Amino acid sequence: MTQRNDAVRVEELRKTYDGTVTALDGVTAAFANGTFTAVMGPSGSGKSTLLQCAAGLDRPTAGRVFLGGTELTATTDTAITKFRRQRVGFVFQDYNLLPALTVEQNVVLPLRLAGKRTDRRRCRAILGQLGLGDRLNDLPEKLSGGQRQRVAVARALVLEPAVIFADEPTGALDLRSAREVLTLLRAVVHEHGRTVVMVTHDPVAAAYADSVLFLADGRLAGALRAPTADAVAERLAHLGDQVRPAGAVA
Ligand code: ADP
Ligand code: MG
Repeated sequence: MTQRNDAVRVEELRKTYDGTVTALDGVTAAFANGTFTAVMGPSGSGKSTLLQCAAGLDRPTAGRVFLGGTELTATTDTAITKFRRQRVGFVFQDYNLLPALTVEQNVVLPLRLAGKRTDRRRCRAILGQLGLGDRLNDLPEKLSGGQRQRVAVARALVLEPAVIFADEPTGALDLRSAREVLTLLRAVVHEHGRTVVMVTHDPVAAAYADSVLFLADGRLAGALRAPTADAVAERLAHLGDQVRPAGAVA
């Protein structure tokens, strides 16, 4: 059952590619409204696949995905796309800004795609809050990596989505820019009440979250609340030690 206060819930999520590669092998997890969760695990453990399936960017092979009260897995691709455009923000490692559009045009785009009125004042207010008020008419190529990622976060926020998924959002940033973006994501949760689910391989980045979910071989391999970078690094180092009986339920 989906709890009322879950922004996202996945049940027994499985994803196989070509019937041979098992990316997700029965993952059940819930992300409560107003929480910041980091997802960690070795390369290839299924982190990106989990995010893509939970965000409605990809379909699981089996299992269920709930966003708010809506079961994404029970609806059509067209309906999922429409729902996603209204209710989900996504931040990618490589920003995914459109190079031919200005900063402001990039941020306005989700409103246009969702068929909403373009509220330029709101877009400018968000960009101003993120320290980009004087870059509205610049093309992305004129911005630093950290600034580009802040534009991407602004774009993810503009529709006031129930949940923002971020896949290695600081993976391409220097330390200072990474700190800025992480502080911003934390404020998105704790000051604006949004829900953020962030994949990262960096224990320091994970320590910005309220809790950490660990994946190994497409299965849940534990969780950590109020994580410190040291505790996360320690847990990561021992992920491989956990021997699971075959067929165990995560
Ligand atoms: P992570 O983000 O933790 O590095 P992924 O979710 O990207 O892991 O990948 C999980 C597994 O699924 C890996 O073995 C990967 O090679 C495989 N995989 C991911 N995407 C595809 C795809 N489009 N086609 C085939 N295999 C894929
Ligand atoms: Mg990945």
